[in-house]
Amino acid sequence: MNGNDEDPAPTRPRPVSNGAELHEQLAIHGGAPIRRTPWPTYDKGAVHVCAEDEEAAMRAIRSHLYFRYDHRDESETECGQFEAELCRYFGTRHALAVSSGTAALALAIMGAAVPPGALVACPGFTFVATPSAIVLAGCRPFLVEVDDDLRMDLDDLRRRWRPEIKAILVVHMRGFAADVAALAAFAAEMGVPLIEDAVPALGAELGGRKLGTFGVAGAFSTQSDKALNCGEGGFLVTDDTTLFGRAVALSGAYEGRLRRHFPDTEPPVDGLNLPLLSLRMDEIRAALLRAELTRLPERLTLFHRNYAQVSGALADVAEIAIRTPVAPGAYLGEAFVFRVPDGDAGWFARALRAEGIDARNIGADDDLNVRAFWNWRFMYDDTDPARIRATLPRTARLLAETVDVPLSSSLTPDDCDELIRAVRKVAAASTPAASGTEPTGPTPVGAEPVRA
Ligand SMILES: *Cc1c(COP(=O)(O)O)cnc(C)c1O
Repeated sequence: MNGNDEDPAPTRPRPVSNGAELHEQLAIHGGAPIRRTPWPTYDKGAVHVCAEDEEAAMRAIRSHLYFRYDHRDESETECGQFEAELCRYFGTRHALAVSSGTAALALAIMGAAVPPGALVACPGFTFVATPSAIVLAGCRPFLVEVDDDLRMDLDDLRRRWRPEIKAILVVHMRGFAADVAALAAFAAEMGVPLIEDAVPALGAELGGRKLGTFGVAGAFSTQSDKALNCGEGGFLVTDDTTLFGRAVALSGAYEGRLRRHFPDTEPPVDGLNLPLLSLRMDEIRAALLRAELTRLPERLTLFHRNYAQVSGALADVAEIAIRTPVAPGAYLGEAFVFRVPDGDAGWFARALRAEGIDARNIGADDDLNVRAFWNWRFMYDDTDPARIRATLPRTARLLAETVDVPLSSSLTPDDCDELIRAVRKVAAASTPAASGTEPTGPTPVGAEPVRA
């Protein structure tokens, strides 16, 4: 995946170097790559797990009590304690650990009693799990354009509002806070619940308040690519006791187990009125997550440090547009996402990969990225990506311009520095200014430009 092998030999003569550092030979043109070791990502094992976490998982394994609902009191189970710790961390009344982030999203929608068949608005830029969770909850996704910073665009939602929309599902995509306060106010005006897909922003804050606590419920994942990692898993947080009760029953708290989540009061719902979907978490993963949660602040500091280093050092690069946070620091920092507004982002990402950096152009034609809405084909009767793109033209254009680089919390300042140098090198070679007089546009002869 990583390296030069996927990039064929250049199909056009290389620009002649004038010797300035700007004209350093690109690896995609046969020059020396900035980096020769793999870019650290979770799928290559770059995760934040330590010996205490392993011990915690072993404690649960040795107990032989793997199911969360057994003879023990709720306060003695790993899942029960994890949920209590999540309530303290987020400052919410309730938390429910479940089997995945997608499950948490679907349970939040069903818990909010959004009627089956209703439209649920969500942004056109998110991971495919968001619209999939809407489908899992028996509803239909209604896609909304994103703005230049790739956030759900409230103006577009307002303009295209339809009475069939019964909930808004906002996403803090790639860790950047959406304008969730404005969206919450709009949802209240329309009389529908706002639910947060806060999966990519676990622990990030906006104005001193944790993302995931602005809507009626916030959903999170603990899959390995997220800020808490137990392989697979998720949870939801909420202050809404009825929503919580419904989600608990739906997740699989059968025959009185619902009661365990309401030690001091009657459960707000009768579990027999709801189907049992078996989306529970188990004790081994909850034990691992409890240990990781104690070190989450440390990990968040690393994400922020990496992102600040990279975005700060590249702020003056004219060829790229870095996302502006909705408020200072309102991001997690687990990815460096930028646009190449006037260039070829597909070429830019390929050139970065040749330099040894994992980079993807989200809207690339030759890379089936499931963060691009035209690849959510299950949603459409149409099979023509061009016609699907035309349904959200601005989002389609912006994603065609977007490059995505994962920023693992395991990156060192030297790793970040290599990313910075690689982006500068590729950016310098991508503009006419790089050769003085001759334009040295990167698009190989015969290739289709990304933008008309
Ligand atoms: C990862 C992700 C999910 C899904 O989480 P799973 O635990 O894999 O189901 C949902 N939404 C977003 C934005 C994600 O990045």
